[in-house]
Amino acid sequence: MTSTDSMRVRFAPSPTGALHIGGARTALYNWLLARGSGGTLVLRIEDTDRERSTPENVAQILDALEWLGLGWDEGPLSQAERGERHREEVARLVGEGHAYEDEGAVRLRVPDEGATVVRDVIRGEVRFEHSAIDDFVIARSDGSPLYNLAVAVDDRDMAISHVVRGEDHLSNTPRQLMVLKALGAEPPLYAHLPLLHGPDGKKLSKRHGAASVQELREAGYLPEAVRNYLALLGWGADATTTFFTTEDLIERFSLERVSRNPAVFDEQKLRWMNGRYLRELGSGELARRLEDVYGARPGLAVAAAIAQEKMQTLADFWPLAGFLVERRETDECAWRKVMRDGARENLTEARHALAGAEPFDEPTVEAALREVVERRGAKPKDVFQPVRVAISGSTVSPGIFESVVGLGREETLARVDDALSRLD
Ligand code: GLU
Repeated sequence: MTSTDSMRVRFAPSPTGALHIGGARTALYNWLLARGSGGTLVLRIEDTDRERSTPENVAQILDALEWLGLGWDEGPLSQAERGERHREEVARLVGEGHAYEDEGAVRLRVPDEGATVVRDVIRGEVRFEHSAIDDFVIARSDGSPLYNLAVAVDDRDMAISHVVRGEDHLSNTPRQLMVLKALGAEPPLYAHLPLLHGPDGKKLSKRHGAASVQELREAGYLPEAVRNYLALLGWGADATTTFFTTEDLIERFSLERVSRNPAVFDEQKLRWMNGRYLRELGSGELARRLEDVYGARPGLAVAAAIAQEKMQTLADFWPLAGFLVERRETDECAWRKVMRDGARENLTEARHALAGAEPFDEPTVEAALREVVERRGAKPKDVFQPVRVAISGSTVSPGIFESVVGLGREETLARVDDALSRLD
């Protein structure tokens, strides 16, 4: 099979928790292969661990895939619901002498000699000596089939052409190949994706920041930026290109260019990349994305346009520009730092200047405030910071002139008046 033939691939999460970054990358790669080859993505929920597989976890995984924009073509199929098929095949393997009963359980016969060789698209040939593998259990004494049996039967029944999954499953592969061989099935091609590490070189875990897709979403990342970043965790079209539209990814992704080496998930890089994606959004689109997070509110679109240049994630919006949407409590530390010495007089002068600025646009507001600086013989920050604290409650905000204009004259003056009365 060449990579231009249409592929049948599958994403097979175990719903024992949220969809983590590694699982999301596996889903993305399978999705790209299916889309790029005009093939099919099967979603198979590996829910045979009845205790840990909850409907909530399944819902969470589907939700995460939908948010990422990774649609599937068949499924979701439940592996647990296919128990009958698995039992049938266990019985057949016993009947044909490939497996035997042992104290009620069923074991697959593993030859004493030779080896099973996994031909992995990414890792090359990986050899597993039979001398190191015992006859292994494929069904428990209560008849319930085991994992490697279920996966092999399902991959065969679903006519999967390529099994693309995390490297942690490489060690299961010889057993699955042995089951497939005993079933008389042609095995799929395998591709085991490199492990994910944190920037410190250790296996990726919670310590490295957002670990699940849900957390990435809550942290304010855009799904298209996450797709782009995840694609680069183990793959690259060349040594330098960083930004890929999803269409580019579909066109250019190939297993041949997936690395064997562990890939590093660095949330700081994702933040940076997300900031680039955010700045490329049209201001109406940015406001729409913010509405999904903060609800539709008056002032949001104006505030979004003002904050856009300074945001890296949607979650950066509120601390930076929430004051443009609603009044917030003053940061007392900022107040004490700024509202001293000549602040009261400077703010009083600024108030007059702003009341008279006509039209109330950026050039006029800027000229008016700079005139106050001049007249008072002050430094710019001695005038701008008191205004900033008065309107935003903090010393951090987007540019002062655009903030004042964005807020509007009436609201600006109301907040400055309140600050002045507190200074009296
Ligand atoms: N259910 C396994 C997991 O979530 C994946 C198995 C496979 O892809 O073969 O790790």
